[in-house]
Amino acid sequence: MTEPKAFLQHASLEWEDGVPTSTLFEDIYFNRSGGVAETRHVFLEANHLEQRFRQTVTTPFVVAETGFGTGLNFLCCRDLWLNSAPLSRQLHYISCERYPLSPADLEQALAAFPEFSDGTAQLLKAYPDPVAGIHTFVFDEGRILLTLLLGDALETLPQLEARVDAWFLDGFAPARNPELWNDHLFHQIARLSQPGSTFATFTAAGVVRRGLQAVGFNVSKCPGFGRKREMLSGLMTQAPLETAAADTPIWFRRPDPMSNDMPVVVIGAGIAGASTAFALASQGYRVIVLERNAAPAMEGSGNPQGALYAKLPAIPTAHSRFHLSGLLHTRALLEALTTSASADLGQCCGVLQLAVNDKEAKRQQLVVEQSAYPDSLVYPINQAQASELAGLPTGSGGLFFPSAGWISPARLCERLLTHPLIECRYNTPVTSLEHHDGVWHLGSADIRAEQVVVCCASQAVTLAPLAHLPLKPIRGQTSQAPAPDTLAPLKTVVCGEGYISPPLHGQYCFGASFVLHDPDDQVRQAEHQHNLEILQRALPQLGQSLQQQSLAGRVAFRCSTPDYLPLVGAVADHAAFIETYAKLRDDARWPFTARPPLLPGLFINVGHGSKGLLSGPISGQLIAALISGSPLPMASEQARILNPSRFTIKNLIRKTL
Ligand code: SAM
Repeated sequence: MTEPKAFLQHASLEWEDGVPTSTLFEDIYFNRSGGVAETRHVFLEANHLEQRFRQTVTTPFVVAETGFGTGLNFLCCRDLWLNSAPLSRQLHYISCERYPLSPADLEQALAAFPEFSDGTAQLLKAYPDPVAGIHTFVFDEGRILLTLLLGDALETLPQLEARVDAWFLDGFAPARNPELWNDHLFHQIARLSQPGSTFATFTAAGVVRRGLQAVGFNVSKCPGFGRKREMLSGLMTQAPLETAAADTPIWFRRPDPMSNDMPVVVIGAGIAGASTAFALASQGYRVIVLERNAAPAMEGSGNPQGALYAKLPAIPTAHSRFHLSGLLHTRALLEALTTSASADLGQCCGVLQLAVNDKEAKRQQLVVEQSAYPDSLVYPINQAQASELAGLPTGSGGLFFPSAGWISPARLCERLLTHPLIECRYNTPVTSLEHHDGVWHLGSADIRAEQVVVCCASQAVTLAPLAHLPLKPIRGQTSQAPAPDTLAPLKTVVCGEGYISPPLHGQYCFGASFVLHDPDDQVRQAEHQHNLEILQRALPQLGQSLQQQSLAGRVAFRCSTPDYLPLVGAVADHAAFIETYAKLRDDARWPFTARPPLLPGLFINVGHGSKGLLSGPISGQLIAALISGSPLPMASEQARILNPSRFTIKNLIRKTL
C-alpha cells in the first residue's frame, strides 16, 4: 500500500456571474442573490451571535464550521466580532476543509466582497499550502485565531480538542454530499459541544434534523434565506462528553482551567517566552514577563537572523507534521506582523536546501519520489536553477521552499512583547520557584503568581519543580561579516550543512557550530573556520570572499531534548506522577483511571533546539490554550508528542525509572 499523500487537491471550480460552483459536488459556495446576506441570516443571526459577542465574558468565543470554502462565512463572522465584541476578548474560528480553494480562486471569489478587503488581505497572507492537518493562524493582532482542519472533516474533527459555542454547518447540501452528513459527524459535533452550544445550517433535511436531535440538540425549523423555505438551528441541552480525543492516554489529559485574578508570569523573553506572552495577552490575560537580561532575546534567540524552514522527511511523521504546522503558523505570523516600517522582522524570500553530499542528495531524491508535499511548499531544482535563485553560484542543486525565509528572532520577540497587556521586567532573574499558600513564589524577582510559564530554556532545570527534565544545552557559534561589495547580495536563504541568510543591514550572518557538553561561551577561531568551510561548500564564491574578512561571532546555547522536540504543556508533580503510573513498569496496558497529578498553574515551553522559529510561536499558542481551556491550536496527536511528561512515561514502560 502506498502512503496517503500529506497534501490535498485544490477544489475544482466553475464560475458563473462571479459565484463559484464545485464541479465535484455540483453545488454553489454562496448564494447568487447575496452571499453576505445569506451568511448573516443563516449562520450569524440563527446562532444569535451579535448579542452573544457583545455579552461574551469568557474568552475565547469558539465558532466551528464544516466547510471553509471561500472563507466568506469567516470574514462575515470576523466583521461582526470586530464590531461588537469587547476589545480584550478573542474569537477562535475553526473550520474544516477537504478541498481547499487555490489561493487564486480564493482571491477571485472574495474580490466580490470589497467590504471585507482588509480581512481578505489577511486571509490571503495566512492561507496555507494544502497540507493535511490542523493549522492555526493569528488575525487582527491576536483578536482572532483561525484554525483550519485540512482534510476530511470525519478524519480531522476526532483530532480536535475544543468546546465549541456556535456551529456553522455548511458542507454543501446533504443530498450532494451524503458522505459528510452522517452519524460520525453528528457524534463529533456533540463531543465538541457543551450545554448552551448552538448550531445553524441552511438545510432542513430530515437526516440532519434527526441526527442532531439524536446527539442531544433541541432542533427548530426556522425560515430559510431567500427562496429557501426552511433551515435548522438548535441548542445543545445534554451534559458535555469527554472532549479529549479518544486516543489520548489518561496521563496526557489537559489540566482543568483555573480562575485567575493575578497576571500570568512568563519566565524568559526569548522566542518561547515572547510567543507565550503574546498568545496569552491575545486571549485577554495580563502577563508579566521576567527576563534576567537587560532586553529580550539575548540568549538562544539572539542571533541577528534565523532560517525559517523545515527539513521534511520523504514520509511525513508526527514530528514533521508538527514542524510543518509550525512553519505555516510562523510564516503567517511574520506576514501578519510585517509592515513597511518593520521590514527587518524577516522576509519570506525562499529557502534553498542544497544537496551538499550524497547522503543528502539521496534523501532529497526520496522526498521528490514520494511527492508527499505540494509544489507550492517545496520543489526540486538543479544547480543552475539554485544559483539563479540564490543570485550567487551554489555548490549543488537541491530543494527550494519558495515561501519560507528568514526571521530576526530578536525583532520578532520585541514585536510580540509590544502587546498592551504585557509588562516586561528586565534584569530580573528568577532563582527559585516554590508553591505555598496557593500561589507560586518566584525567588529574587519577589513576585507571586497563580500561573507561571517557564520559558527559560536549559535554565529551567535550576528551578526545583523542573529539576528532573532532560534538557541539554548545545553550544552554537554563528559568524558575521560585512557583505562584500564585489559580489551580488544573496537573494534567498541557503541551507546546506549550515545556513546563511541574505544580508541584513549589510551584514551576513552564517553558521553554526554544534558542540556538545561545552559550556564555554567564548567565540573561537576554529568554529569561525568551520562555519566558513560549510559556507564554502554551499556557496563557493561567497565563502571564498568571506574567508578574506575578519569575522565577528556570537555564541549561544540551544536547549535540546532527547527526542529533539520541545517540552510544552502542564508540569506534573514528578514524584506523584511516577507513583500514579508506577504500574506501567509491569503492564503498559494497565487501565488507569487517575488523571495526571499536575502542579497547579505551572506550565513549561522549552527545548526548541535550533528550531525555535518553527516551534516557538505555535507552542506559545498551545500554552495559552491549555491555560484558558480553549481549543488546541494543533492536532491532539501533536500536543501529546510535546507533553513534558512523555519521558517519564517512556522510562516507566522501559523500567528505567
Ligand atoms: N462556508 C463556505 C464559505 O463561506 O465560502 C462555503 C462552504 S461550501 C458550501 C462547502 C465546503 O465544504 C466546500 O468547500 C467543500 O470542499 C467542503 N467539504 C465538503 N465535504 C467535506 C468534508 N468531508 N470534509 C471537509 N470539508 C468538506
